[in-house]
Amino acid sequence: MSILELSRLRSGYGDLEVVTDVSFRAEPGRVTALLGRNGAGKTTTLRAVTGLNRVMSGSVTLDGEDISKVAPHRRARMGIAYVQEGKRIFRSRTVEENLTLGSFARPRRRRGNAVRDELYDRFPMLAERRRFRAAQLSGGQQQMLAIAQALAAEPGVLLLDEPSAGLAPTIVGDVLEVIKDLREQGLAIVLVEQAVEFALAAADGVVVLNVGRTVYEGTVDQPGLRDAIKHAYMADG
Ligand code: ATP
Repeated sequence: MSILELSRLRSGYGDLEVVTDVSFRAEPGRVTALLGRNGAGKTTTLRAVTGLNRVMSGSVTLDGEDISKVAPHRRARMGIAYVQEGKRIFRSRTVEENLTLGSFARPRRRRGNAVRDELYDRFPMLAERRRFRAAQLSGGQQQMLAIAQALAAEPGVLLLDEPSAGLAPTIVGDVLEVIKDLREQGLAIVLVEQAVEFALAAADGVVVLNVGRTVYEGTVDQPGLRDAIKHAYMADG
């Protein structure tokens, strides 16, 4: 169980500031959707949480501990898992090898194949294809593998970047079910999405970014949400 908190985060690429003031909190057993137009800074925010982008100021804390300066591989071991946009798996490796690679970020609490077996129980489709190369899987199956690979590290926080992108509508429903199921298990999930309705169907909390800033943070059923979204998606910048 982990609580992730961002406070007045500034981040970007080199000296280029893309995220100027992002704050929000992600809690166990909740899906926090991060919404905003193209270029609003959603991916950059996730990358700052993982350590791939520098925290220029403000803070990223995990269970109250400031991890802003902790190296990416150590953050992974602390329980932050990141599923990047575009199903970044090892395409020439088998399903099983991908899961094994994912487990390398796991703290050495549990040995053996227990976690992998649990993942196969959760994703029987992957169990049936464990010897297939990842490249042989369909787009939806590759997305499931990318999520399973992240889960192999037994994270407390799961960052998902556009998991519905490029998937057929029926598969999008499957991804939604997986996300809800993981929430039930107590993961703190941060979901970045262009597909607003998909995100809202999964979300408990919503954070809206506009030009690198948090402009709204609230629950999914709060009255001001729709206006905040409309405003952020229409704004000129
Ligand atoms: P999208 O859905 O398009 O990914 P986003 O909200 O996730 O939108 P980011 O990917 O965080 O937005 O990008 C925010 C800004 O950062 C954009 O203006 C983009 O051009 C810029 N940017 C992204 N990657 C880099 C990079 N490697 N170097 C420099 N600038 C970048």
